[in-house]
Amino acid sequence: MPERGRPDYLWPLFAGLDTLDGVGPKTAKAFEGIGVETPRDLVLTLPTGGVDRTRKPSIRDVALPGMATVEVTVGRHRKPAGRGPYRVEVEDAQTSFQLVFFHAREDYLARLLPTGSRRVVSGKVELFDGIAQMAHPDHVLPPDEASAIPGFEPVYPLAQGLTQKGLARAMASALSLVPHLGEWIDLPLVDEKGWPAWRAAVLEVHAPQAPGDLSPNTPARQRLAFDEMFAHQLTLALARAQDRRKRGIVSEGDGRLRARVMAALPFKPTGAQMRAMEEIAGDMGAPHRMNRLLQGDVGAGKTLVALMALLTAVEAGGQGVMMAPTSILAAQHYAGLKPLAEAAGVVIAQLTGQDKGAERKSKLAALKRGDIQILVGTHAVFQDDVDFADLRLAIVDEQHRFGVRERIRLSDKGAAADMLVMTATPIPRTLSLAQYGDMDVSVLDEKPPGRTPVTTALVPTGRIDEVVDHLRVAVAEGKQAYWVCPLVGESETYDATAAEERFKRLRAALGDDVVGLVHGQLPPAEKDRAMTDFAEGRTRVLVATTVIEVGVDVPNASIMVIEQADLFGLAQLHQLRGRVGRGAAASTCVLLYRAPLGETAKRRLSILRETEDGFRIAEEDLAIRGAGDVIGTAQSGLPRFRIADMERQAGLMALAQSAARALLTRDPGLQSPQGQSAQVLFWLLEQDKALKLLSAG
Ligand code: ADP
Ligand code: MG
Repeated sequence: MPERGRPDYLWPLFAGLDTLDGVGPKTAKAFEGIGVETPRDLVLTLPTGGVDRTRKPSIRDVALPGMATVEVTVGRHRKPAGRGPYRVEVEDAQTSFQLVFFHAREDYLARLLPTGSRRVVSGKVELFDGIAQMAHPDHVLPPDEASAIPGFEPVYPLAQGLTQKGLARAMASALSLVPHLGEWIDLPLVDEKGWPAWRAAVLEVHAPQAPGDLSPNTPARQRLAFDEMFAHQLTLALARAQDRRKRGIVSEGDGRLRARVMAALPFKPTGAQMRAMEEIAGDMGAPHRMNRLLQGDVGAGKTLVALMALLTAVEAGGQGVMMAPTSILAAQHYAGLKPLAEAAGVVIAQLTGQDKGAERKSKLAALKRGDIQILVGTHAVFQDDVDFADLRLAIVDEQHRFGVRERIRLSDKGAAADMLVMTATPIPRTLSLAQYGDMDVSVLDEKPPGRTPVTTALVPTGRIDEVVDHLRVAVAEGKQAYWVCPLVGESETYDATAAEERFKRLRAALGDDVVGLVHGQLPPAEKDRAMTDFAEGRTRVLVATTVIEVGVDVPNASIMVIEQADLFGLAQLHQLRGRVGRGAAASTCVLLYRAPLGETAKRRLSILRETEDGFRIAEEDLAIRGAGDVIGTAQSGLPRFRIADMERQAGLMALAQSAARALLTRDPGLQSPQGQSAQVLFWLLEQDKALKLLSAG
């Protein structure tokens, strides 16, 4: 974190923890256990629970064991006999009980609890051998000082070496360092939501008065959650604004090639496809550089949208490139695009790692001359020796992957080329906002008509023989099936072995010529052959590891069997299931699971039976598993929030994005009073990237 430029009134919040009351080097170290390294971290660590210390007449009013705060008359002190505890008998309004102290200091207890005096005591009461006891009361005070006992006390997460008391003391000291800060949120929004100002919100969340104050939906907690999301979205919005300022290429096609393709189509584009095409054409015709995400479930029809974008680049006199994550998928894209592109009179070529020697050389030369107008391939398309005559559009098909590295490298080929990223994973809106907030998004949320729904069945592995019997009948009827073996271990070799084993058994059961095999360990040529044999109907059953997930299109395949489905993520299962139901025949997806199935696993798999809506599946998956698990943690680029909850506060994230973009539109340099406050927020929440973007201007 750069320190230069940080407003000096924030410095105490970023000082060492040992500047706080009661915190020495040892405790400071212990705080690391709860992710706290500075007073700032501490004040943003919110209570996770609370203790009710409302005064009651008697411990009889409390369900035991439970927390009780009662006024008592102190009775007899009973000193320990041998190694037992020190006991003090007390009597509240209705009953008597004992205060219990281990390793007690007698003189101290005599002063604290003189026999015959009145005291207010607060602590946990438990029954022990039928006798009510309060061991080591948290508070013991004379009645006239008892107002010092909070009616409701916050409880914080602890780690080894920390106590609630010590933490409360450090917190009080840290809270005294919290400055008033100018408002960075639009005032109308603050008013509408009834949010306190930042400092007031911080103080409030640490002073809950009742259990309800611990809810994430209190105005104070909401505001602090919003602050985090806002800072994140503002960072993304700054990146986006900087991106948009970069000179782009104006690719305004005349529509002549696109019209030819439209005329050749055997169907009408969906409304969602039309909308996405218009959004993309708008971006490509504008002087800024397009940075757009095209999101659409498997089968939503992204290919057509992509083709139209590529043709726009060609109409404008330039070239377009489309990159897929695997050679199988690249080949499929190429096969899908080629007839339509050629119908429009456009030259399209494919480039993969398998291209070698003279053929590769001549392709590269044609590309450099501009004779190839559309290039499709794997990451081979952005190797160093690949030069374009006039690259105007780069499309990256990420499928289910969330890589961002390749996006960036590919764009280096055409310094100002428009960028379109396609993903087939329906990402819940909140995650897509968090992860792709710097991009513009087109969503294909409408499926082409005429799809037959897929029937999904959950079958325990014990009944696998019945599944094989069904398969035999289906194959005899001319149907085709995928059989997916799971990713069992860390090692791909192991998965390949499992797949080989299944392959052997299915061949034995169904016949040698009928069954094919594809997995990641096979040489590319063999993989391709297995895929082609299946696509062309020479094999009827394709045993595969998850390599087939990345988008093969075999319309005749109408059965999908997934082994150990309980091991897969929901999104992945949804993707796999999307491989069938592409043709006219009724399709089936069989999810084999290892019985017995746990509650969560059952709930997850049942969702698949209920719906084929990828967005709904993604939302449910998110609710069950949490964001990190849904997209995989490290490389996901997801922010880590202290307070905000992406799963449950999706609405706030959307609000944060529109607020952030609106602020930057009004005040691109963040120089207005509100903008300057937002810069303070960056310092406060250590949004280094935002600060860098701002200083880069
Ligand atoms: P995605 O890439 O989004 O998974 P595709 O672009 O591969 O989907 O389209 C899946 C299938 O649907 C293809 O066979 C395609 O020709 C067909 N298709 C695309 N758009 C439409 C439409 N509007 N109406 C009917 N069929 C369509
Ligand atoms: Mg596709």
